[in-house]
Amino acid sequence: MIAESMNSAVPSDPPLQTVTRRAIIAIDGPAGAGKSTIARHLASYFGLLNLESGAMYRAFALKALTSGVAFEDVPALLQLSRETSIHLVPNETGNRVILDGVDVTGQLRQQVVTDGASRVSVHPQIRAWMVSLQQELGAQGGVVMEGRDIGTVVFPKADVKIFLDAAPEVRGLRRYDQLSPAAAEEVQPEEVVRELRARDERDRNRADSPLRPAADAIILDSTHMTLDEVVARAEAIVTEKLRQVSVPQA
Ligand code: C5P
Repeated sequence: MIAESMNSAVPSDPPLQTVTRRAIIAIDGPAGAGKSTIARHLASYFGLLNLESGAMYRAFALKALTSGVAFEDVPALLQLSRETSIHLVPNETGNRVILDGVDVTGQLRQQVVTDGASRVSVHPQIRAWMVSLQQELGAQGGVVMEGRDIGTVVFPKADVKIFLDAAPEVRGLRRYDQLSPAAAEEVQPEEVVRELRARDERDRNRADSPLRPAADAIILDSTHMTLDEVVARAEAIVTEKLRQVSVPQA
């Protein structure tokens, strides 16, 4: 995949432009850290495609749910994966997700799907399948990919790796504030924090590709930062890293 157009924000220096056009930018971190917002912004700012790997796990969890396959039944999940196609269609507001030819984007934020994605993603065979799909998507570069294992497993040679973090309470409350008024009526903020911690636990403690920063990732802790500050910092990190990559090392 190749980005269709370069954003005017990208410097006019030709080597830097070439590097930017082919760049792979990995944004990892726990749930609710703001990865999607930052990844979307960086993609638009640098003229790259924004790919949400979590949406692929969500789509597969939805498929398991609608097929009546338990999230723990690995042989059945594996068989199901062979009968499943998942495509991401990046656009300015995020990714549309096409599952077996049907746009399921609107169904992927349901709590049961969120929980399912966290459960199916612990299985190594399912991860291996997802990782190969994600590697195909980013093979040509020109992408910002967000997830949990992008800098460690999917693209260990990514040009830029940012690990976005924030205190669990802050992440949970941010998530709660993003709920629609109707959804916020149904749930207490503490429940949102609890659910987020449970997902974190699973992501951090699974045997295969646990959530952790890559050794060469830059850690960006947004606990005490405004969104504008995080965006500015992320832009600066990417610009600086791409500049380093564009200068041949002696
Ligand atoms: O990022 P998002 O919340 O949409 O991801 C849904 C779930 O998919 C996460 O809770 C995580 O368990 C899993 N995931 C993963 N590896 C990724 C992306 C998401 O394990 N690269």
